[in-house]
Amino acid sequence: MESFIQWHWVVLILLGFILGWLLAKRRNKKTRRQLRFSSDYFQGLNYLLNDEQDKAIEVFLQLVESDWQTIDTHLTLGSIFRRKGEIDKAIKLHQSLLARPSLPSEYKVRVLLELGRDYQLAGWLDRAEGLFNEVLKDSDYTEEALTHLMDIYQQEHEWEEAITVAKRYQRAAKNNLKTVIAQFYCELSDQEYSKGDLKESEALAVQGLSMDENCVRASIILGKLAIQRGRYKKAIRFFKQVEFQDVVYLPLVVIHLIECYKNQSNLRSLISYLRSLDEKYDCVSLTPVIVDLINEVYDTSSAIEYLSVQMKLKPSLDGIQKMLEINLSSIDVQENYIKEVIDQLMLDQSGYQCSKCGYTAKTLYWLCPSCHTWSGMKPRHQ
Ligand SMILES: [Zn+2]
Repeated sequence: MESFIQWHWVVLILLGFILGWLLAKRRNKKTRRQLRFSSDYFQGLNYLLNDEQDKAIEVFLQLVESDWQTIDTHLTLGSIFRRKGEIDKAIKLHQSLLARPSLPSEYKVRVLLELGRDYQLAGWLDRAEGLFNEVLKDSDYTEEALTHLMDIYQQEHEWEEAITVAKRYQRAAKNNLKTVIAQFYCELSDQEYSKGDLKESEALAVQGLSMDENCVRASIILGKLAIQRGRYKKAIRFFKQVEFQDVVYLPLVVIHLIECYKNQSNLRSLISYLRSLDEKYDCVSLTPVIVDLINEVYDTSSAIEYLSVQMKLKPSLDGIQKMLEINLSSIDVQENYIKEVIDQLMLDQSGYQCSKCGYTAKTLYWLCPSCHTWSGMKPRHQ
């Protein structure tokens, strides 16, 4: 399989170079030079096939100097090296191209971009950042350079720079990045929170929310900060925003709402609110938590009655689990086994899933670790 892949890309390079050579041939009428050109190309290819990349690079660099319009094939070779993980070869090729005094200025920026990508992949982020900043001066490649810079600042958790670059990209590409920028503000807010600066943390979350009014994460941060200050009514307002921002995140805030309403000695009002949500939205299951609250505030028989009605209207795995839990004292061995099965099923289906790539995890990552989409991961509905 590996050798097949090896041959596969060798054939691709071969086709690329033949194409490059044919193009050069069309432009170049001098037959003797053509022959020289083709024989050098095939010598270069021969080196590639024999795994003598250094020699191949030398040959190709001499060739590109005789006709810079064939640079595309050389950049393709560099990107193949990079994709194969031979980053040192890609870097050598691109550095050598840049070092050529005859490199026309219109191609320089493209080589800089490629070398920047090599450095980024090699983990030399400072060097990559320097090159992408140089590319920014060329308006044709501004957006591409800004995208790479945004990736670098995310990797380095330099959120202030990430915000600046994202805003600039938004203006240049006329592309709406408000969801992503709001997440950057939330990251900054979290950083300030861990340093103990709650005021700054709050100010940054507010900026996040003003950037994207549907940023669930910013509302949760602001709600939690309000709880810390004992301002429960304010906290409730933030947590209740989640219903209108993205209702599937509601299960994340229920625990905080319980804390707020308990402190206000007003759990009955919370039960009514949660019941209205549970009836209104099929995509969230709040029945188990409501049952617990009814059990706590009223009595067990009212809780069982509510659960029985809900299970007919809106059957769910966590509802069945709750039913077995409540009746645990009266169940026999066989039913106990059923509870174990349900618990296992619940465990398998619990957690979060990325709506873009399907990645699942037991913890919530605001940035999907698999496809790197912000706010892609959502609680799984059971
Ligand atoms: Zn994903």
